[in-house]
Amino acid sequence: MTDAKAEAELLRRTPTGVFIDGAWRDAGNGATFEVQDPATGATLARVANASPRDGMAALSAAHAAQEGWAHTPSRQRSEILRRAFELVRERSEDLALLMTMEMGKPLAESRGEVAYANEFLRWFSEEAPRISGRYAASPDGATRLLVTKRPVGPSLMITPWNFPLAMATRKIAPAVAAGCTMILKPAELTPLTALYFTQLMAEAGLPAGVLNVLPTTDPGGVTGPLISDPRLRKLSFTGSTAVGSRLMAASSQQVLRVSMELGGNAPFIVFEDADMDAAVAGALMAKLRNGGEACVAANRFLVHESVAAEFSARLTEAMASYRVGRGTEADTKLGPLINAAAVAKVRRLVDEAVAAGAVVALGGAALDRPGFFFEPTVLTNVPSHASIAQEEIFGPVAAVQTFSDEREAIAAANSTPFGLVCFVYTRDLSRVLRLAERLETGMLGVNTGVVSNAAAPFGGVKSSGLGREGGFEGIDEYLETVYVAVSDPFLGA
Ligand code: NAD
Repeated sequence: MTDAKAEAELLRRTPTGVFIDGAWRDAGNGATFEVQDPATGATLARVANASPRDGMAALSAAHAAQEGWAHTPSRQRSEILRRAFELVRERSEDLALLMTMEMGKPLAESRGEVAYANEFLRWFSEEAPRISGRYAASPDGATRLLVTKRPVGPSLMITPWNFPLAMATRKIAPAVAAGCTMILKPAELTPLTALYFTQLMAEAGLPAGVLNVLPTTDPGGVTGPLISDPRLRKLSFTGSTAVGSRLMAASSQQVLRVSMELGGNAPFIVFEDADMDAAVAGALMAKLRNGGEACVAANRFLVHESVAAEFSARLTEAMASYRVGRGTEADTKLGPLINAAAVAKVRRLVDEAVAAGAVVALGGAALDRPGFFFEPTVLTNVPSHASIAQEEIFGPVAAVQTFSDEREAIAAANSTPFGLVCFVYTRDLSRVLRLAERLETGMLGVNTGVVSNAAAPFGGVKSSGLGREGGFEGIDEYLETVYVAVSDPFLGA
């Protein structure tokens, strides 16, 4: 089969409806929308465009399924997740190709995301049977304290386009483990991966109504009424800080439990004692993984002035070797950005940085070809007030600044409203411990450019969010704590 035939055949097998109460349907109003290939601008598929009425039907299904699901033995929920894990492993090539087609990242990276996303299914299949409580005597001996956990209830999950599978499984897996029913609203730019995955969850035995999925180009119109409906109990959102904070405000009406995975502005700090080979290799991972379109992408390279010239030269040489192309081509190392607006934003940030005094060491422009490509770019001498140092770049642009001592590096790292992740390169353990206490961040990568791990609590502080996904912490986002005070006449007997 040619590549084009294989892609067409995969699209034919990918569901394109809304998924409500265990069945694929057209949107209630029959509307559809287009999903594009960002490498070519071509239309890949038309997907059902859920309306507010479909949203309500999904919430009714989730609400109706909640009680039975909450009382399903945790071992059964665990085994559904385990079967889903096996199915994702079997179909990983389909999922990876679909992801590359709609999102653009190189196929090797899509395979990496599928494996990472799948680890959440495995991890939370192992966590489901471990939900527990405690029993204690009150200090005065008069009562017994029973503390138990129960599922929060129907949960709305809103996910972004940059990691179409992992951002979904990071929410769905702990919710299944905890016994919550769900409504997933995938990003309108990349719904196909989530729809394919939904089919696998159904094949794995997830009962009808437990997971409902609503692709839509009207996210506010479809989710707004759900957020104000008392049957919904939880909102888990991954996306921009601007949208997240608006959704938090809306969630206050029903006092919903909220989890917010929002934007970042990660500093990547290279100290004078860093292993330079490791720092350059880590910088490539932290900057160019996902084409720079990651909340954990290194946004500001803060490099000690004594090693800045060497670091910038080596990073420039390495980034110059990245071949740009459609993610399905074997030698592509950098795919397209997601759309024309993303290219325009990156171009604006680069132009403003240059106007503020930055020097272009590599690239600096969009590529003149179909699709939404931007060259690998290195800027040096970036002033800290430049917009590129303040805003999320979300593109393949490394912006290098310098510092002269540790105190200055910490102040610079902490100088934005964000606090998702920091990366530091140093061989000094005492310094690492100082930084772990002083950097305002939810996560710290030490001599590594990648922190994501299903077994670890992922999340940020300040404007980067609230709550954690993954690790032991991830399931707590979907559990309520219930305390029972027991006073028994026989206690004193
Ligand atoms: P976005 O905020 O525009 O969209 C995210 C999701 O919210 C999409 O599904 C979108 O349809 C939906 N949405 C948009 N407006 C809405 C509204 N009014 N009501 C309800 N839903 C609405 O973000 P994006 O451009 O898709 O994603 C990129 C952003 O996500 C970046 O800021 C990135 O840092 C962040 N992100 C954070 C994490 C994390 O774990 N912290 C992970 C990935 C991405």
